[in-house]
Amino acid sequence: EPTGNKSGKKKVVAVVGGGLGGALNACYFAKRGFQVQVFESREDIRAAKVVKGRSINLALSHRGRSALKHVGMEEKVVSKGIPMHARMIHSLKGNSFALLQAVASLGACQIMKVSCKSFVTRFLCDFSAAAEVYPNTKLNFDHKLQDWNAETGNMTFVRADGTKEHIEADLIVGCDGAFSAVRKQFMRRSRFNYSQTYIPHGYKELTMPPIDGDFAMKPNYLHIWPRNTFMMIALPNLDFTFTCTLFMPFEEFEKITTGDEVISFFQTYFPDAIPLIGAEALKRDYFRLPAQAMVSVKCSSYHIADKCVLMGDAAHAIVPFYGQGMNAGFEDCIVFEEIMEQFNENLSEVLPEYTRVRVPDDHAIADLAMYNYVEMRAHVNSKWFLFRKYVDNFLHALMPGSIIPLYTMVTFTRTRYHKAVERWQWQERVRKV
Ligand code: FAD
Repeated sequence: EPTGNKSGKKKVVAVVGGGLGGALNACYFAKRGFQVQVFESREDIRAAKVVKGRSINLALSHRGRSALKHVGMEEKVVSKGIPMHARMIHSLKGNSFALLQAVASLGACQIMKVSCKSFVTRFLCDFSAAAEVYPNTKLNFDHKLQDWNAETGNMTFVRADGTKEHIEADLIVGCDGAFSAVRKQFMRRSRFNYSQTYIPHGYKELTMPPIDGDFAMKPNYLHIWPRNTFMMIALPNLDFTFTCTLFMPFEEFEKITTGDEVISFFQTYFPDAIPLIGAEALKRDYFRLPAQAMVSVKCSSYHIADKCVLMGDAAHAIVPFYGQGMNAGFEDCIVFEEIMEQFNENLSEVLPEYTRVRVPDDHAIADLAMYNYVEMRAHVNSKWFLFRKYVDNFLHALMPGSIIPLYTMVTFTRTRYHKAVERWQWQERVRKV
């Protein structure tokens, strides 16, 4: 059992939450030689056939890959991914066309080179397995954090059978997602800022099966059906299926109550998807789960003294419309690591510096994701929007040093998020002159 650092041993780090961010964080702390204990409320997810919860189908881009690389995980994850080169837009009439494909190959080799590095992956299980490879790491499943004490670092966990365990750690890393139990202690303290916003949209996931053992649509694209207030996207999986995610206001979801209504809704808005998903499967799967909510959470500070730090969605849940939630959470690990190096693992300096450096960036990506939520729905259809994207890319190809599209900075570089936004605002002003 971890007993703290009274005997001069390497400190005990408790990572609460064994999701994507928690598992990667565990690798980082283990690599530095800390004694790492991961506490995850669910049963051992590696043994589970179906992992409940949100999509395990995510776009991994440069920031996430950089963070994986540092602990030798990049190739392992990427080798199980599917590269996405561009977006494929599906029109109301059922036609589809690739967006930015022509521009990307226009000679702007940075875009080609980097955009090829964007992957869709399924890797929850691999990750937690990697965390356990380190001998100084222990994964504890079926441990749900109930409460903890900010002065002593004492945590109380409940097990499925109702028993309780009390565990002490030198540092608690809160990676327990958007509804973080670790964060609850922060909420009780003075000078902690917090805001959360639910968007009116929910999402539902549907599966598009393979046709003759192959993908039903071109696999190396993010498929988008933009319909103003609705939107559907589809991402390929390694088993030749696609996961389609339908984003729609809750009130619209609620209007659809029968299988026939599902079909007529799809006939109006996504006609080409019906034969690909299959009418019968669509009628059935649509009602399998209720629509899921999406929340944006912003807070600061991210730390309490030298005892606790929040990372990933626990610190910054963002709406998924920039494909950056996991990437930002992974980047948290690398930023923390850089600061650990700078301050020689002195946690009383590292934690405040982490808050100082990271909060502006996480808030910037939260705002950007929200901005994209509006933009993707409303404008991706419009000719003016497509033209503007074209011009941006063309200018970037001509002057790669001075004009860099915002999407490129966010997705294919590690430019700090808030700097990327500042630069974009500057570019917008220049363009108007
Ligand atoms: P989580 O994944 O939420 O993990 C938290 C873990 O903590 C869970 O395992 C949970 O069981 C555990 N836990 C919770 N409470 C407790 C407790 N009290 N005690 C112990 N354990 C606890 N991001 C991208 O980068 N690219 C994408 O393409 C993308 N697409 C998305 C699509 C959708 C529809 C959604 C909703 C999100 C998407 N994201 C994407 C965001 C991404 O899923 C999240 O940012 C990421 O999963 C956050 O990881 P996390 O480890 O911080 O939190």
